[in-house]
Amino acid sequence: MTDDQQLRVSKIRNGTVIDHITGGQALNVLAILGIDGTSGDSVSVAMNMPSDRLGKKDIVKVEGKELSQNEVDVLSLIAPAASINIVRDFEVVEKARVERPSMVEGVLECPNHNCISTEDEPVQSRFAVVDDGVRCEYCDTIIRDDLPAHILAE
Ligand SMILES: [Zn+2]
Repeated sequence: MTDDQQLRVSKIRNGTVIDHITGGQALNVLAILGIDGTSGDSVSVAMNMPSDRLGKKDIVKVEGKELSQNEVDVLSLIAPAASINIVRDFEVVEKARVERPSMVEGVLECPNHNCISTEDEPVQSRFAVVDDGVRCEYCDTIIRDDLPAHILAE
């Protein structure tokens, strides 16, 4: 199947199709988007689909949602090859690859409770994206795994 055919399998009217997610990361993508199934939005997930480029890939389709830049930035950290298709009225109106940012600001919470960014200071969390994870700009704490668990609640 070509990518276009796969997109057509279960069409959504308005929303986002995230394709080329690293195999096995779909549930983390849902966590990043804050989707736990309670909102009533229709969500479809395909896991470990064959992919020429990735070997195996996951696909997530979310009805009624477009992603914020913060969500895209965190997404890029766990699914660097992902493509984001914005769908309106059953047509893909915008298609973009995620780009790995050099920095993510105000998105993740530092796990170090003594870090200035976690105190009641007007300091926004700031992490540099490094090879093996992200590093807090204030206290040098590195988050390697489980990035979705460190996403700040909005
Ligand atoms: Zn910190």
